[in-house]
Amino acid sequence: GSTWSNVPQGPPVSITEAYKADKFELKVNLGVGAYRDGRGEPYVLPSVRVAEERILMKALDKEYAGITGVPSFTKAAIELAYGKSSPVLDRVAATQSISGTGALRVGGAFLERFYPYAKTVYLPTPSWANHAAIMKDSKLDIKSYRYYSKKTIGLDIDGLLEDIVNAPKGSIFLFHACAHNPTGVDPTPEQWRAISGAVKSGGHFPFFDMAYQGFASGDTDKDAYALRYFIEQGHPVALAQSFAKNMGLYGERVGAFSVLAESAEGKKRLDSQIKILVRPLYSNPPVNGARIASEILNDPTLNKQWLGEVKGMADRIISMRAALKTNLEQIGSKRDWNHITSQIGMFAYTGLGPEQVDRLAKEFSVYGTKDGRISVAGITSDNVKYLAQSIHKVTV
Ligand code: PMP
Repeated sequence: GSTWSNVPQGPPVSITEAYKADKFELKVNLGVGAYRDGRGEPYVLPSVRVAEERILMKALDKEYAGITGVPSFTKAAIELAYGKSSPVLDRVAATQSISGTGALRVGGAFLERFYPYAKTVYLPTPSWANHAAIMKDSKLDIKSYRYYSKKTIGLDIDGLLEDIVNAPKGSIFLFHACAHNPTGVDPTPEQWRAISGAVKSGGHFPFFDMAYQGFASGDTDKDAYALRYFIEQGHPVALAQSFAKNMGLYGERVGAFSVLAESAEGKKRLDSQIKILVRPLYSNPPVNGARIASEILNDPTLNKQWLGEVKGMADRIISMRAALKTNLEQIGSKRDWNHITSQIGMFAYTGLGPEQVDRLAKEFSVYGTKDGRISVAGITSDNVKYLAQSIHKVTV
């Protein structure tokens, strides 16, 4: 055989192919993980356009950034997550990353090299599918903790706490900081406090993935509650941030990875090792997206405009959740659809089974993912009625 004859055909990674091939004019794409405006079109935030124009006017050079990226961006990103007046800022070792995925991957590499206890990462069931792949490729062991209850279509808080308490001391726990993907089910502040207590008594290490700060509730401080509460409680956290959703900078790949050190001196040691990790991975990150984010985060007027736009996106999603539920009820669905409005973030975890999802695609040209997840960002006032009718027909 030839050199690569032993390479098997892999399964498809993308879910949009069937949608693209469908010719039906009312077809609805609820598979994409990107925000769409009220007309169903991709949305570039006006604050991003302003930042781009300013950067263009500055006629900046295209020199390499340092290994850890654009310093004004990283500093502002950390302040956004931990809080501008957080007392721990001088202990946060941070690097710019290739969006949230890259932040998780650098984090995986950092834990693999330096975490002193069992290198086992516990992921929620279910989780964003890429989490397991990223941590596996980082050579960490993967286990899972209970999170979502199919029965209640809500959080399995008892199972979650039990799994934290029963995990071997010093395990790594990955938490979605807000807007859990795919379920849209987040712990309440009270539940986060219980989770923090369990993590602490188990001596575990919390790694937060915050891919939707501001995008969940419309308020960047509110969405950072879990992270900031854990820090208040003295946890040594790691954090992956993404600016894909909250700034609509998907393809620009803007993110940050950070770890909290126990002292300012410890931060310096961690910084030096993060550089040693990143250098052979990709040398240094791209500058353009980080410059855009930096402009928005560091200019008070533009920052305020951006916060309004983030809230606008969150509000449209919240209103589309309400519209979907109302339409289902008006059509006469006798099912309980309260979870559609109680869930948060980009996705609704409908509770539909694989056959129902299949029928939605084949008979109604409505495309979600097999697990019953639909992207609320893909719903508009124009398609919500058709969508509700279609869902009703496969659930009566
Ligand atoms: N974590 C979660 C939970 C996500 O949903 C996503 C985006 N789908 C990411 C991380 C990272 O995305 P990106 O690399 O585009 O920032």
